Amino acid sequence: SETSDQLAAFFQSGIYRFSNCAVSVVFMDPVRVLNRSYSRFRVSPSTYYSRFFSSNLAADFAHRETELSSSSKKRKRKEKKPPLLNEREQAADQRHQLARPLLLKAHECLIGASELLGILRSLSCDSSSMAERRKPTVVETEPSFVELGKVWQAPLYEIALKFPRSCRSNENEGDIVDQCCDPGLVPVFNNLVVNETGDEVEAEFLSRKYVIPLESCFYMSDLGKIQNLIPEVYNADAKNVQVLVYIPMVSRNRCNPFCWFVAADSGSGFNLILIDPPWENASAHQKLMYPTLPNRYFLSLPIKKLVHSDGALVGLWVTNWERLRNFVLEELFPSWGVTYAASLFWLKVKADGSLTSDLDLFHHRPYECLLLAYCNTKSGMGGTMEDQVVISIPGDYSRKPPVGELLQKYVPGVGPPRCIELFAREMMAGWASWGNEPLHFQDSHYFLLN
Ligand code: SAM
Repeated sequence: SETSDQLAAFFQSGIYRFSNCAVSVVFMDPVRVLNRSYSRFRVSPSTYYSRFFSSNLAADFAHRETELSSSSKKRKRKEKKPPLLNEREQAADQRHQLARPLLLKAHECLIGASELLGILRSLSCDSSSMAERRKPTVVETEPSFVELGKVWQAPLYEIALKFPRSCRSNENEGDIVDQCCDPGLVPVFNNLVVNETGDEVEAEFLSRKYVIPLESCFYMSDLGKIQNLIPEVYNADAKNVQVLVYIPMVSRNRCNPFCWFVAADSGSGFNLILIDPPWENASAHQKLMYPTLPNRYFLSLPIKKLVHSDGALVGLWVTNWERLRNFVLEELFPSWGVTYAASLFWLKVKADGSLTSDLDLFHHRPYECLLLAYCNTKSGMGGTMEDQVVISIPGDYSRKPPVGELLQKYVPGVGPPRCIELFAREMMAGWASWGNEPLHFQDSHYFLLN
């Protein structure tokens, strides 16, 4: 049947496309999407969904009913005045009212897909009996890359990459074999570390193991060093960036994100730039999780210089804070030279399909927004994109669903798109990741062995 085909496609891809849904909406299982970057490992569902929202719909409704009846009793006692919103709050509310019909429609589509709803609870299970959790490494606590990157010894910290054994047997390749089998230790900070192989590579740092997806690279540094990612900067001064380039045995059939380094003439820069800045906000919890930066720091992001000559689609995660919205649309986008095109809403649900909070709760909306904008695209691009919704069960604090693939059809350029994530905490096959902790979710404890 059509529904089972949809579910089968979902199990394969991690993306469920609703039929008969009037709006552009998908449900995503980030674990399955991420797993397409790996073959020997897979992302552990129970670790990804570390705070699986498992309350049930019935209890939720019962709770809402009692809340409603008690508030109506209170209302009878004392007639409630409508809340007074200041000007900015009114603007925020207006924006919410505009998005509301789309979000409600999207949620209706999910609630109508009973086959999908039936398996949501199982998404966090590490199911397969073959799955072996990675053995705990010697050091139990995860190192804080953010802290290590700041100390004076930072340039001395090195990471060891272990390339797959198979390349060792190829003895006719001379130096290339050496390079591939014994990459040695490479600096982990302020260095472009590249896995150009068609297989994931294990890496070791401070007695912990990390899984580096195929054809991916990371540059772990503070914002102050982001200039080194600009193609012309390190092409002009290769000493600036020490690069470990593994020369693969397999022919290169994809244009990897870092091939601008290897072959400067193959076109440079990125066609898809996803950015999730450490915006300041009032959450004390957030302050414990990662450092934040004042808005004006993001004006210095060299977006124009990172953009490919064919142009780029830029996706910026923003909070629902009106002041931030205004800053982005009035100051940040103009300074980056990008033009707003559409919004992608991330609607957050619990394991029973209900929203993680009331849709109309003013200070705690169950959705976040990715603003999509174009930079330097040839005319014709940009006008065709509509607002869309991706629904998923949230993972760790502030971890965003991997939406890159959903955006591919809007990405300008002729070749395979070159993609980069700024302020990344994880890596994906075919992507470059930059931030002060892009290895965070690559720690092997987030993975199972296949
Ligand atoms: N998109 C990520 C995810 O899904 O897991 C979350 C990114 S989080 C909102 C922002 C990231 O920016 C954090 O990893 C934080 O450590 C990093 N960051 C904060 N200050 C930074 C700086 N000065 N330079 C580089 N990265 C920084």
